[in-house]
Amino acid sequence: MTTNNELRRITVFDTTLRDGEQAPGCSMNLPEKIEVAKRLERLGVDIMEAGFPASSPGDLESVKAIAEIVKGCAVAGLCRCLEKDIDAAREALAPAVSPRLHVFLATSPVHMEFKLKMTPEQVLEQAVASVKYAKKFCADVEFSAEDAFRSDPDFVCKVFGAAITAGALTVNFPDTVGYAMPAEFGERIRYIKEHTPGMEKAKLSVHCHNDLGLAVANSIAAVANGADQVECTINGIGERAGNASLEELVMGLRLRQDYFSADTKVDSTQIYAVSRLVSQVTGVKVQPNKAIVGDNAFAHEAGIHQHGVLAKRETYEIMTPESIGIPKNRMVLGKHSGRHAFEERLKDLGLAVDAETLGTIFASFKELADKKKIVSDRDIEALVMDTTVSVPETWKLDHWAVNTGSALGASGVIRLQHKDGRHEKLVSMGDGPIDSIFKAINQIVGKEPELELYEIGAITGGSSSQGETMVKIAMNGRRWNGRGVSTDVVESSIKAYLSAINAMEWDLGK
Ligand SMILES: [Zn+2]
Repeated sequence: MTTNNELRRITVFDTTLRDGEQAPGCSMNLPEKIEVAKRLERLGVDIMEAGFPASSPGDLESVKAIAEIVKGCAVAGLCRCLEKDIDAAREALAPAVSPRLHVFLATSPVHMEFKLKMTPEQVLEQAVASVKYAKKFCADVEFSAEDAFRSDPDFVCKVFGAAITAGALTVNFPDTVGYAMPAEFGERIRYIKEHTPGMEKAKLSVHCHNDLGLAVANSIAAVANGADQVECTINGIGERAGNASLEELVMGLRLRQDYFSADTKVDSTQIYAVSRLVSQVTGVKVQPNKAIVGDNAFAHEAGIHQHGVLAKRETYEIMTPESIGIPKNRMVLGKHSGRHAFEERLKDLGLAVDAETLGTIFASFKELADKKKIVSDRDIEALVMDTTVSVPETWKLDHWAVNTGSALGASGVIRLQHKDGRHEKLVSMGDGPIDSIFKAINQIVGKEPELELYEIGAITGGSSSQGETMVKIAMNGRRWNGRGVSTDVVESSIKAYLSAINAMEWDLGK
């Protein structure tokens, strides 16, 4: 039996806002990134990688905004081994309490020869020069050997050793292309740990991709073989098939402390709320059978299983829903619920907000409770999202009407209010009610973005449920997401489209 003192503390490096955000369809705007950053801080990650500042002015700006807000954990910025990248990252991280400069350079033959067009000697030299340069501005420097798994292990040890001598406090061993097998990866990590000169002065990190579905398995194998840090993302989002999923790593280590004698400082009861948030702001749904956070992760369908769980939960459940923050107490909120009960519910749902935001959300809750008898947890989550991650509105919905049927096409009329006070009204025809209204909005706004995604679903069951719409629009290679929630599905679609339009106007108007 292990006691708490014997547990090895594994460092959790979250890269949802960098590797996750750069994945197809996962882009987030600034208010969304800030809200995710706040929740990651509350979740208790040790480091959050906030972005890649040299990649665009927008990325630099968002890393800076996150560095200003987050105080409870380190904030990292990614840089290639170039002085201009390091300069951009240190500018972005200037306000951070605990900044980390994360420099990377590829060490595999295929990357060195074809991408970098550099010899191994040149790679070694540039890695050392960059760590030294970064170290001038920041005590906490991490060096990553991109595509480390497909690199010559002895070369990686040599580069890591030199990086540590130059001042790197963490050296990261990525399986950039998701090619490794768990036992093999564990052995490799042990080899690197034992053969890197000066390894005792730095932490060894891993960064695994999920191309063969093994990112978590490989990360866990690495921990068992001496890795000190794991890099991961919420819901496993990331380039291609994604990264190691934070929730799976954290719960795996926590549940099997008897096996690993290791743990993280993550507050697992915050997991569900942050998973929902990331899914909502990216518009990327979590698959129902996803471990830990999927809708079915705690569902028992077969009679024999249900019987077992009712008799004793442990028969078929290795963890409780509450341990990841799914509230047990199904307290019903309605129009008679007071502010205190509402605030308690927000806390139970992992959605605690400051007093001012609470006032705004409570007012919207009262409005919704007038329309609906029962306000569900998902409804509350939608209200919080509307308030915390919205951008300033250029256009507001005044009113709308649609006329549709099987014989004739649809027509829609919409009236919007611009932020300068003027009202604009327009009627348009289209293929169905949504098309007609969206066309009318485009004409008022004077822009024609492409509608890349339009998804509608009910947030809760029953005929008085709220319709939730997600849209993604694109123009000139840039993308914006919008969400809308309403008891009327046409209205939720209009709200979603307008919120994407407002995100676009705000972004383009900056
Ligand atoms: Zn990656």
